[in-house]
Amino acid sequence: RAKEERGNALQFYSREMSVRAVERAELEGALRRAIERKEFELFYQPKVQLQSGRIIGAEALIRWRHPEIGLVSPTRFIPMAEELGLIVPIGDWVLRTACAQNKAWQDAGLDPICVSVNLSARQFRDEHLVDSVADALDSMGLDARHLELELTESMVMNGAELFISKLRALESMGVQLSIDDFGTGYSSLSYLKRFPLHHLKIDQSFVRDIANDLDDATITSSVISLGHSLNLKVIAEGVETAEQVEFLRRHKCDEMQGNFFSKPLPADDFFHLLQTH
Ligand code: C2E
Ligand code: MG
Ligand code: MG
Ligand code: MG
Repeated sequence: RAKEERGNALQFYSREMSVRAVERAELEGALRRAIERKEFELFYQPKVQLQSGRIIGAEALIRWRHPEIGLVSPTRFIPMAEELGLIVPIGDWVLRTACAQNKAWQDAGLDPICVSVNLSARQFRDEHLVDSVADALDSMGLDARHLELELTESMVMNGAELFISKLRALESMGVQLSIDDFGTGYSSLSYLKRFPLHHLKIDQSFVRDIANDLDDATITSSVISLGHSLNLKVIAEGVETAEQVEFLRRHKCDEMQGNFFSKPLPADDFFHLLQTH
């Protein structure tokens, strides 16, 4: 009897697995066609200067609008795109679209802002990365200082020498560079001094409880001091409450980003926000 039950459970398990495998295969196929079908869209989340309250930038965040499933989260499809080798063309689309959008906002007469784009590790390793960035800026007519690239600590760890020469090439082009999700990866702090960085982004997992958890408060205020002593601007991600804003202001954090001020918005809504702000 026990054996029979186990057999059924196994059968059920494997059936469920194959349903998932089919779903995944379908999703992969759909992802391969998503660029040409124009199913991607960029949302923009404002970055706000804590002292002045001004919007000084935005982070571009990709969304995939699948015709049947609806919006698919990047946390679900970016890893898939990495595995399938699709992240390079998708990432290129993101770069070009963000640059074109930012230039269009400037041409509409708004004060220039810096738009940041997330790079994945695979994209950063791609031999054409520097050329793709230069080409996106050039063909959209955007000044390099209005583009920022968000990197992660894990990329910094791999292949240090090649990594540094790419960072230098981007920096000498005038592009801004930041470390995203700072504090969540494994990395040596020495790279902060050696690399041409402009921003540290404190991960939202530390920001979440700064008002109540002493450890998170200490980590956050230490990262702010560390950043400042290395001449970097520090931005807090995932800011949701007035208490968090108060804490960040008191500890001289430079900028904030999060749902407290605004969630990521479609380009038109973001344009409207910039106009009325
Ligand atoms: P990330 O770069 O750390 O982006 C911040 C994430 O936090 C975004 O999730 C954003 O919507 C979310 N967020 C913003 N404010 C709040 C808040 O107040 N509370 C909470 N709980 N969350 C907030 P999203 O858009 O789902 O993106 C997730 C991750 O996917 C990003 O994390 C980034 O690693 C990746 N990603 C997004 N767009 C791209 C892209 O164009 N290229 C690449 N390579 N990765 C991307
Ligand atoms: Mg980011
Ligand atoms: Mg982040
Ligand atoms: Mg994150």
